[in-house]
Amino acid sequence: MSIVFIISAPSGSGKSTLVNRVRKCVPGLEFSISYTTRKPRGHEQNGREYYFITREEFEAMIHNGEFLEYAKVFETDYYGTARRFLEQAERDGNDLLLDIDVQGAAQIKKKIPDAVSIFILPPNRAELEQRLRNRSQDDEAVIQKRLRAGSREIVNYHRYEYIVVNDRLEESVKTLAAILLSERQRRMGGADAAQEALAEKSRLARVRDRLQPILQSFAETAVTGK
Ligand code: ADP
Ligand code: 5GP
Repeated sequence: MSIVFIISAPSGSGKSTLVNRVRKCVPGLEFSISYTTRKPRGHEQNGREYYFITREEFEAMIHNGEFLEYAKVFETDYYGTARRFLEQAERDGNDLLLDIDVQGAAQIKKKIPDAVSIFILPPNRAELEQRLRNRSQDDEAVIQKRLRAGSREIVNYHRYEYIVVNDRLEESVKTLAAILLSERQRRMGGADAAQEALAEKSRLARVRDRLQPILQSFAETAVTGK
């Protein structure tokens, strides 16, 4: 049985960067390429970051039961995970990594309770805004929409089993890899004590105190509107 790893994060937290790095150092991991109705950004290519399809095509796939989960993200666009990626991972004997939003994560957890869920957070709201701007891929209106969505998503952190605060990239890569590897080892009956200890540091119950200032930085902005 493949392990399904769910990774969610407010847009701009560094999730794609982290996932790309981890895929290079954790073997046996397949990545589901989602379908979306949003337009390609920057250098994105159809079939590499996403399958970019029309709303009509997306709705036909819903109708045909092709999605394991799907959701409307940022109020406008559909995003969905095709069932065939899980089937393919099972056939290949690999684990599957899903980069999906909190709505999709809830749907997967319902269907696959054993799925492992990981939430990635930025160190604070100002850093998230900075990263969205540095990425230079979105116009101001889109950045503001993503920040608002981020504030809404962040309050769902407690639904996830692991929380990775993506402050220093190299540390976050090691932590994320340790979570994937230790979950895999645990299910195979083995354990690497060092990997497990690193992964355990990111367990929800262990990071609650560290999260308070991060959540506060988002709450303050919601009140002052800055
Ligand atoms: P997401 O996939 O969560 O939307 P990206 O991976 O595109 O985010 O990252 C957003 C921006 O932040 C990119 O310019 C990326 O290089 C940068 N970034 C990612 N992780 C870090 C980090 N730990 N420290 C500083 N910048 C980061
Ligand atoms: P972006 O437009 O920045 O690539 O992604 C926006 C959001 O959509 C991110 O939170 C990302 O995790 C989410 N997303 C990407 N693919 C899927 C998917 O297949 N299903 C769901 N539910 N969300 C997705």
